[in-house]
Amino acid sequence: MKYDIAIIGGGPAGYTAAERAAAGGLKTVIFEKKAIGGVCLNEGCIPTKTLLYSAKLLDHAKSAAKYGISVPDGISFNLEKIIDRKDKVVKKLTGGVKMTVQSYGAELIEKEAVIAGESDGLIQILAGGGIYEVTYLLVCTGSDTVVPPIKGLSEVDYWTSKEALEMTVLPKSLAIIGGGVIGMEFASFFNSMGVKVSVIEMMPEILGAMDKETSAMLRTEYQKRGVDFQLNSKVTEVSPSGVTIEKAGKSVLIEAEKILVSAGRKANLSQVGLDKLNVELARNGVKVDEHMLTSHPHVYACGDITGHSMLAHTAIRESEVA
Ligand SMILES: Cc1cc2nc3c(=O)[nH]c(=O)nc-3n(C[C@H](O)[C@H](O)[C@H](O)COP(=O)(O)OP(=O)(O)OC[C@H]3O[C@@H](n4cnc5c(N)ncnc54)[C@H](O)[C@@H]3O)c2cc1C
Repeated sequence: MKYDIAIIGGGPAGYTAAERAAAGGLKTVIFEKKAIGGVCLNEGCIPTKTLLYSAKLLDHAKSAAKYGISVPDGISFNLEKIIDRKDKVVKKLTGGVKMTVQSYGAELIEKEAVIAGESDGLIQILAGGGIYEVTYLLVCTGSDTVVPPIKGLSEVDYWTSKEALEMTVLPKSLAIIGGGVIGMEFASFFNSMGVKVSVIEMMPEILGAMDKETSAMLRTEYQKRGVDFQLNSKVTEVSPSGVTIEKAGKSVLIEAEKILVSAGRKANLSQVGLDKLNVELARNGVKVDEHMLTSHPHVYACGDITGHSMLAHTAIRESEVA
């Protein structure tokens, strides 16, 4: 089977590129091994925002009396229904993306794709027992959670963002390792739901590269809501009792029923076979130029795999550029 372009990965970068390429008249094939929509729609931006919307309504209800609104039967929530609504939103949006991609004429193959090599100027891709020969390749395999090698972690039933989105029971207390954007979204959600939240951050401030003044303001607001922050703190060990940190030369146990590891994400480089095409890598991902072209003249890369901002809107813009 011959195509003008193959796209590996059906996240925001991949599905946007597939729509654009097919709309532009290229014979396009896109491969997705798990679920179209990628991390963003299935286990990232969208599910977190639907949970946060429920939390926001709960917060509004709690302060309703201040605004002259009464909630006659008291305020309560149903976690099962909150998660169920989140799943329905994800299903609706991913279904919409699938239909849109196909409506532009791109062929969607819901299988894992691996680069096999190249011959006669065509790149060969293997997927689901088929061989696909393509003139151009766009790699959009995204990123995955980083789980640091913390002592004791493998012995406890910890969450990453993915498991936290599938929870069925709220813990009484939660220690979040990592105060980046994802960690803070979860801190906000669980705090609103009445969970005692501690955020452990190695740096002097939360939210990494964000403006320091804004980050500090946001942290103060969270503190007012009852979130505990342990800054300048290195995690040394975890156990069923919680997280042990080293702070100002002292060892402190942050007690928590559950641990959420939110210590960053890394580009998915290893399993797609980029080495078969000698594609050059940079420190955090695939090396690309300003056109998203890699060191190979027919291979482009965009989205989290470039290690740039690891945000969906960057992924979408990069795919438009590619
Ligand atoms: C909890 C959380 C919240 C987030 N919130 C936001 C937010 O509010 N705003 C924002 O801008 N960003 C947010 N992000 C980041 C956003 O999800 C990512 O930046 C975005 O999904 C990257 O898109 P992508 O297309 O590069 O990769 P991905 O979305 O990771 O998609 C890559 C796809 O490639 C597939 N794949 C990988 N290898 C293969 C293969 N060999 N064959 C076939 N398929 C393959 C994967 O299954 C996956 O579906 C969030 C992320 C998380 C985890």
